[in-house]
Amino acid sequence: MNHGVCPKCQSTEIYRGLSADGEGLTAGSYISLIELITGKTQTTLWLNTYVCQLCGYIEMYIANQDGLAQLSQAEGWERVTTTHNSLLGD
Ligand SMILES: [Zn+2]
Repeated sequence: MNHGVCPKCQSTEIYRGLSADGEGLTAGSYISLIELITGKTQTTLWLNTYVCQLCGYIEMYIANQDGLAQLSQAEGWERVTTTHNSLLGD
């Protein structure tokens, strides 16, 4: 979807909210940040939101990907176990 094509309906009418460093929601954002807290650090992840104008499908990606390294140690997050069905693309 971040390449401009909807994975659900193949529309190319994709819009991205323009995330901005700052506090709270901005005009182009929806749930614009995630706070990661480990024993030692606190990291803010900003979200880029993509919306398909045709079918309404939404995808979100972390904008500052350097912060993703904290995810495995962050409080309140657990790794999703791979299942047989998810390996088949379900
Ligand atoms: Zn779509």
